[in-house]
Parts: sequence; C-alpha cells; structure tokens
Amino acid sequence: MTQAVCILGVTGSIGQSTLRVLQQHPDQYSVFAVSAYSRLDELLEICKQFHPKIVVVPNKKALELQQRFKQENLNNIEILTDEAGLVAIAEHSEVDIVMAAIVGAAGLLPTLAAVKSGKRVLLANKESLVMSGDIMMQAAKQHNALLLPVDSEHNAIFQSLPHDYLDAERTGQPQLGVSRILLTASGGPFLNHSLEQLSKVTPQQACKHPNWSMGQKISVDSATLMNKGLELIEACHLFSISEHFVTVVVHPQSIIHSMVQYVDGSTLAQMGNPDMCTPIAHALAWPKRLATDVPALNLFDTAQLDFQAPDIIKFPALDLARQAMRAGGLAPTILNAANEIAVSAFLQHKIKFTAIPEVVGHTLQVVQNAKAENIDIILHTDMIARQVAETYIVDIGG
Ligand code: NAD
Ligand code: MG
Repeated sequence: MTQAVCILGVTGSIGQSTLRVLQQHPDQYSVFAVSAYSRLDELLEICKQFHPKIVVVPNKKALELQQRFKQENLNNIEILTDEAGLVAIAEHSEVDIVMAAIVGAAGLLPTLAAVKSGKRVLLANKESLVMSGDIMMQAAKQHNALLLPVDSEHNAIFQSLPHDYLDAERTGQPQLGVSRILLTASGGPFLNHSLEQLSKVTPQQACKHPNWSMGQKISVDSATLMNKGLELIEACHLFSISEHFVTVVVHPQSIIHSMVQYVDGSTLAQMGNPDMCTPIAHALAWPKRLATDVPALNLFDTAQLDFQAPDIIKFPALDLARQAMRAGGLAPTILNAANEIAVSAFLQHKIKFTAIPEVVGHTLQVVQNAKAENIDIILHTDMIARQVAETYIVDIGG
C-alpha cells in the first residue's frame, strides 16, 4: 500500500522538489491530488507523469484545462476549483500526507484544513503559520495532526532537538535541556551591499539567490531578510519558544541549516548541501529516512564556514518581524500582508527594494493590533493591512 500525497502548489519550486523525491519512491508514495495556479503547461506534464486523481486550479482556468485533458486523454482526472477545491483536497479522506507549498496567505485555509483533518502536514508555506500561529498549533494538537517543518532551518532545528520535543509542554521556554535556537541565514544576494547600493537593486538581481533556487517571493524575502523574520516567527510557534531564545546567525555558505544549543554547552547542527529535497524527504518519512539524489556533503570541498551577526540597519525587516512577534496578536498577520503587497510592488518595478520594509513598518504602525481570536479576524486584518499597504505605495509614488 502506498501513502497518498496531496501537493498544494505543485508547480512551484517546493512542489517540483517534492515530485523529485516522490518519483524515486513509487513503491511508498502516490500522488493523489495536486493544485496549480497559473502554469497549466507544467501542470499537464505533471498529470501525464504522476496521474493524480484530482487537480485544483482557479475557476478561470478550469475550462482550458478540461479541453487540454481531453486532447491528452486524461479525462478521468477530476478538476476542482478555487479555495473550496484546495480545502477539499487538503482534507480528503483518501489523503495521508499534505505538502503545503502554496506561497503566501493563499495557503492559510487549505493548510489549516489539512491540520484539522489530522493529516501528516509538511509545512513549507510559512506565511500560513505566521498568520495563524497559536490557532494552527492548537488545531494540530487537538486533531492529532503531525505538523512537520520543511523550511530547511526549521527542519534542521527539528532534527537537532530531542526526539520527543514536539510532545513537550508548550510554555514559551526551552524544554528538555535546550537553551537556545540558532537560526541561520545566508544573508541573501546583497549581504555586502551598502544602503546606497541596496536602493538601486532590481527584481532580477533580488531573485538570484546565491545558494538556493526558489520562487520569486521567497527570493525577495531572502534578500530583504524578511524571510528570516518570518522564519523567526515560524520557529517560535513550531517549537513553542519565545523570540528571546532565538538568535539569528548569518552563515553565507548555507551548509549548516540551523543549530540547537543545550544547557550542558553542546551545540547540535544539521548540515548538508543546500537542496530542499533533503528536508522534504525527512518530513515525508520521519522518523524513518528516505534516500534522495542529493549528494552527501564533502567536507574537504567545503573550504570554510563563516558566521556573523545580521545588520539590522541595512536589513530592518528582520527587526520588524521580531517586534511583531513580541507584540503578538495580529501583528504578524499585518507584517505578512504588508510584505506580500510590498514584494509584489517591487517585482512590478513600482517601488524600490529599500521601500519594502518601509511599507511594512508603516502598515504595522497604522493597522490596529488586537488578539488573533479566530481565523475570520485574521483574514479580515490581512485584507485591511493589504489595503493600507497599497495606499501607502501609491502615496510614495508607486
Ligand atoms: P513558488 O512561487 O515557486 O510556487 C508557489 C506555488 O503556489 C505554485 O505552485 C503556484 O501555482 C501556487 N500559488 C501561487 N499563488 C497562489 C494562489 N493565490 N492560490 C493558490 N495557489 C497559488 O514558491 P516556492 O518557492 O515553491 O515556495 C512555496 C512556499 O514554500 C512559500 O511559502 C515559501 O516561503 C516556502 N519555502 C520555499 C522554499 C524554497 O526553497 N523554494 C524553502 C522554504 C520554504
Ligand atoms: Mg528557510
């Protein structure tokens, strides 16, 4: 019997890496359902190769997809649409494992649906946890879902923590002899740029990450260090630890993917070549191990490992995220929404790279924070924050 996998965001960078791992283990996993947003050509190729039973696309693409399925003799694949379709495949009774790899807030409801259905949920879509924090973690506990981190840093932390850490009491304090989490950051493509140089960088330069090949949004987030800010919030929720116990360490080689320190003076690190197939395989099979085509690390070729503190003057996004986590409530939702709008405006050449944290800072100041009591309040605040950010972008000439 194979385990049935649902891949939300199959045409993206994480989606493709997931397929790369799955295709090496057809005896253990089958692709039951997938979703895509715009890239129908890629989706069609995936369907021909992996034969999912259900695909989800936006309603406006459904007719075109249906015709193309007909041409390719793929009529037996069911097509569902929009958010309702995403939720339906995420909570489908035949699905065992959900890969949450949609980018941004659009992944929130399907990811939460998978958690509430008690699935093994492989979390790449960090924005959904940043927005829904306690609600997502409580739902995982209540519904016995296994929420496993795919983000390479969090996966590394998970591998370096005591094996029963996820079952420990959730107090915000490190447990079981752990004293601190060291969250590593590559520093992105502009690590050594001056502020003056940063104000002139183009979307094309920002999307060219030195170590990882990723989608556009996360590439820009890596360049502003907002990605590390979102990951700081993600770590606090996943491992129930206050931000005070998480130190960000810039490590430009991306060989150590993060570390955990213990009260006895030990520091445990997980290392490997920067390839998302490793954390994906880990989360798929945990506590077992699954072979991948990622070459083992050759330490003789790894000339050196460098570490430095992040420069929060040049990269204020990281500090904005830390402050949002400290403020709690809806602040992380506001931060995330403003960032999504700002990144999209930057990618469309409407604002400068250095305006991204400015838009986020402004939105955090203007939108009222409150308790994140339920998903409706979170979604409403997400919408308000997007409007405030968009208006500010127009005000500054974007
Ligand atoms: P990507 O842009 O390559 O892919 C995004 C996927 O989401 C695509 O399949 C797209 O069709 C789908 N999508 C986009 N907008 C959508 C919408 N409104 N509704 C439904 N589907 C939509 O992104 P990615 O790099 O694969 O990243 C996916 C997620 O994983 C992000 O949250 C990112 O932060 C996280 N992540 C990525 C990496 C990486 O190496 N790429 C590493 C760690 C975490
Ligand atoms: Mg990461």
